[in-house]
Amino acid sequence: MDCMEYRKSASRVLDGEADAAEERELMLHLEGCGSCRLFHESLQAVSAMHRELVETTPPPGILDAVLATTRRPERISGWWKIGISAAAAVVILLGVRIGDYISSSYGDASSPDQAEVFEMDYLEAFPPGSLGERLMVTMEGDVDV
Ligand SMILES: [Zn+2]
Repeated sequence: MDCMEYRKSASRVLDGEADAAEERELMLHLEGCGSCRLFHESLQAVSAMHRELVETTPPPGILDAVLATTRRPERISGWWKIGISAAAAVVILLGVRIGDYISSSYGDASSPDQAEVFEMDYLEAFPPGSLGERLMVTMEGDVDV
């Protein structure tokens, strides 16, 4: 197996889909391969974060308690409104310019795929619903999955 296969194996092990032999073979590889060991540790960290997420129900009455501590904002004078609007426009224009710069550096048709730039193209081979796929979604910000 090559490193890409071992990384898929790491995902299967963490998902509980690997048998003992596959897990043993993975552990042997991790002892000698630093990049796969780092990948495995990252997967474990993400997996641990997901396990720590628990669904909670807010205590009753918390909304009323929060609203009771807030007060209505005082009226903003005309000059402040103009200043705030101008500052917002500057921030938006800067954001667009920075976005253009980043896009021209990585995102145009002549440049390689972002996954290739960050050497993460192997992650696309992960099966749907696997931890590896979730890690890819987290790192690339894809909200469709
Ligand atoms: Zn490796």
